[in-house]
Amino acid sequence: MEIVINTHPKYRVLLQYGELEKGIGNLIGSLSAQKVAIITDSNVEKLYLRPLKESILKQGKSVCSYAFPAGEKSKTLQTVEKLYDFLCENNITRTDLIIALGGGVVGDTAGFVAATYLRGIKLVQIPTTLLAMVDSSIGGKTGINLKSGKNLAGSFYQPSMVVVDTKTLDTLPWEEWQNGIGEIIKYGAIKDKKLFELMEEGKLKERIEEVIFRCLNIKKQVVQKDTLDIGIRQILNFGHTLGHSIEKHSNYAITHGKAIGIGMVLMTKWAEERCFSEIGSADRIEKLLRIYNMPTSYDLSMKELWELATNDKKRKGNKITLVLIDEIGKWSLQDIDINKFLEYNFDAMVLSSFLQGKVIAPPSKSMAHRAIFCAILAKGTSTISNVVQSEDIQASIRVAEALGKKIERKNNNLIISDSENQKTKANVDCGESGTTFRFLLPILSALGKEMNITGKGRLGERPYDVLCTELEKKGASFDKTEGLPLQASGQLKSGEFHILGNVSSQYISGLLIALPILDGDSKIVLTTTLESSAYVDMTVECMKSFGVNVEKTDYGYFIKGSQKYKPATFRVEGDWSNAAFWLCAGVLNGEIEVQGLNENSLQGDKEIKRILLEMGGKIEKTPQGYKTERSELHGIDLDATEIPDLIPIVATVMSYAQGKSIIRNTQRLKLKECDRQKAIVDILTKQGVDIRLHNDAIEIIGNEEKIPASIDGHKDHRIVMSLAISAIKNSGTMILGSQAIRKSYPNFFLKFKKLGGKYVINMGE
Ligand code: ADP
Ligand code: ZN
Repeated sequence: MEIVINTHPKYRVLLQYGELEKGIGNLIGSLSAQKVAIITDSNVEKLYLRPLKESILKQGKSVCSYAFPAGEKSKTLQTVEKLYDFLCENNITRTDLIIALGGGVVGDTAGFVAATYLRGIKLVQIPTTLLAMVDSSIGGKTGINLKSGKNLAGSFYQPSMVVVDTKTLDTLPWEEWQNGIGEIIKYGAIKDKKLFELMEEGKLKERIEEVIFRCLNIKKQVVQKDTLDIGIRQILNFGHTLGHSIEKHSNYAITHGKAIGIGMVLMTKWAEERCFSEIGSADRIEKLLRIYNMPTSYDLSMKELWELATNDKKRKGNKITLVLIDEIGKWSLQDIDINKFLEYNFDAMVLSSFLQGKVIAPPSKSMAHRAIFCAILAKGTSTISNVVQSEDIQASIRVAEALGKKIERKNNNLIISDSENQKTKANVDCGESGTTFRFLLPILSALGKEMNITGKGRLGERPYDVLCTELEKKGASFDKTEGLPLQASGQLKSGEFHILGNVSSQYISGLLIALPILDGDSKIVLTTTLESSAYVDMTVECMKSFGVNVEKTDYGYFIKGSQKYKPATFRVEGDWSNAAFWLCAGVLNGEIEVQGLNENSLQGDKEIKRILLEMGGKIEKTPQGYKTERSELHGIDLDATEIPDLIPIVATVMSYAQGKSIIRNTQRLKLKECDRQKAIVDILTKQGVDIRLHNDAIEIIGNEEKIPASIDGHKDHRIVMSLAISAIKNSGTMILGSQAIRKSYPNFFLKFKKLGGKYVINMGE
């Protein structure tokens, strides 16, 4: 195999098993040199110097050689000086040739000597370590270490030829293989998913030529574009920023390849937490490293590592460019202020763009919550598949653990089982998840468990007093001052529960899940009409999958007591609420197919299909899902009662539709992550939309023209996503506090980018 590197000068890289013994003499012959000086180290000398010498001698050329002691400590000016003397003593002139035979240390040192001896003489690299084969032998970086640090003196000097003989790897110690493996995984992660998968299949040795070929191709593309390492070449530093800190801090006990492996994992975890990388990417890198027995963590905090990394970095001001990945195989660069590295907040500047392509609907969060709670109540092992990783789901998982369950995550599957040594905890943090919190209250009291419940954000403010009061009538006890924390105790007894149907359907869902495990039968009596009833239907349906049944009656629900939840295998379907953002993006300015949605779903938010149709949106059923296209839209009259979560994005679509739209019954929106009624008015007003808030309704006069503006995301994921979708038809919106998407859809911006969406992220305030 052969690759041509088109730098100045251009040169060939030959990749062949056994080349060193067989054909190398010919190759060298073609370079028209009189004398050949081989530079190597003390280990490689014993293994490969003789065959190389012999094959060159056969070409009628004279050969001399010099071997310095193997190891990084030889990469010094003293060695360079000895090499100059050796070349002089052997009368090597500018028409002669140097061969670097060995690993990266030999390649870098001999390369530096070749670049400077007589102002430059021809160089052939024969890398004999995996690291040198995939990385250091091409691209022209040469150099030595100084007292103050590694590779501080050197130059760019391209070789005349590189010969990769994979047979030399037969003698390479495993420790040195691992060094190369770190870089190979890096190549896969930044630019070659196929390579990454080959490595995941454990096919490194079996397919070594292909692996090296793929790495070399990436390196070729990158160095051709940016030979002097001032731009795109920095993507090859993925994992290196933190990796170097680890190498150094461990006093080089952790070698380069291993250190950058850890660096990639840590950097990607960091990036996932900030929505820069697809959730699950770090996990994949970690698993891959384990296949090759590489370490995946280091005993320093992110803060400490970052301080080490930024102390001695060449950088422009306080900014640093991080190499990240959007997903496996796709690099990205992100500028950040070094002082904001540990923050989570970011603002997104979204520009207009046409969105086109396919999206798989993220799994339904509501359904996953329900399944987790049913699995908590089931004795035995349940598997819930297609579970989105988000903060809210994490809260329900914490509840499961606090109640003594063991949780295993395999890709998108959750395996929830009983565990002997898993102890129940006295504390649980519900984060900002209203569902988790409201389900937990009745379930805790039904189990008769005591627990201290904490939460974040508006969780404590959202009204749950009515639920507590009703539960307290039947034996539960909740000790709280204003808001959270709340201390739950007491044992709930079966009976009749009177609940308003129009405050939160989650109260009813939580009760429905809890009551069947009590001894006697119970009734839920709805004192007002049930709103968001689709969510309750979803709860009933999910309970059924776990073997528990309740009956819908004219007063509400009848719940038979002494039922037992059975472990189940449950698949979570695609989420209509989040899919709605893409369907709406399609009708506004795109052509988008959303896959993985259940047409017969009990999710109330599948209403979006009907709403878009009514507004004149082009929406069509495809074999895999639904497709929407840019459409002429007109205003409609809509009732928000059953679809509160759709309102932010629907209001956005209305703001572009011809004529007037009215959304009725918007009072309930006040009780969401933020006062959504106010937030919707705020974000549309800032974009210059004619919008009026009545007591219980919002009136919107559509208009294609919008004003570019800086707008607060109101700490609400759905407001942030609505703003981003609005901006595709707009000339630029700065969405402040965009990190709110972490709540339900951390991959949102990455999907947005994949569809052609344009945005720039600013980290910090
Ligand atoms: P790197 O290539 O990882 O930058 P070195 O050039 O120091 O680092 O090589 C690592 C070690 O492996 C050295 O001790 C070197 O002598 C030894 N080595 C290089 N190539 C081979 C080989 N093909 N077989 C056995 N040992 C080798
Ligand atoms: Zn490296």
